[in-house]
Amino acid sequence: MKVGEIMTPNVISVTEDATTREVAQVLDRHRISGLPVCDDAGHIVGVISEFDLIAKPTAHIAKDAMSRDVISVMEDTSVDEVRYLLVHRRIKRVPVLRGQKLVGIVSRADLVREIALSWVCQVCGDTERGKDPPDQCRKCGTPSGFEPTVSPPVGEGAETQGRVCPTCGQDWPS
Ligand SMILES: [Zn+2]
Repeated sequence: MKVGEIMTPNVISVTEDATTREVAQVLDRHRISGLPVCDDAGHIVGVISEFDLIAKPTAHIAKDAMSRDVISVMEDTSVDEVRYLLVHRRIKRVPVLRGQKLVGIVSRADLVREIALSWVCQVCGDTERGKDPPDQCRKCGTPSGFEPTVSPPVGEGAETQGRVCPTCGQDWPS
């Protein structure tokens, strides 16, 4: 699966000269924790997050508070690659580009939704999407052989993994 299929399109962005107050208002109004900063051509030049606003209280415009070190992906990057980035770079969202232009954003929440909607046939391994498991597998015809995907969740707090005994696999008593 490609990022373009699960990203949030038409992402909100701000310009470099947006004031930090404007940025704060956009974050607050849309209940998001960060957003891309674009130039007039729609090319991404940075990302500004809650953290940037809090960490740089003397900055007055987005340009001075944003992080320029932006990790981005292309529309046809695989979802697994993005999963890796979100987990191992400890970031919450990745801008999605077509050429140099910003066309969407993919967040931990998008991947969590993907886990919620994915069902894997226990017989042939075929994956189906939907709110409920399909009645039978489109590929091999097995009835109700579907289980939720076993991919680890990538949401907030996913860093703290459940403690499992490496020897017997039992949950560690807390
Ligand atoms: Zn099947």
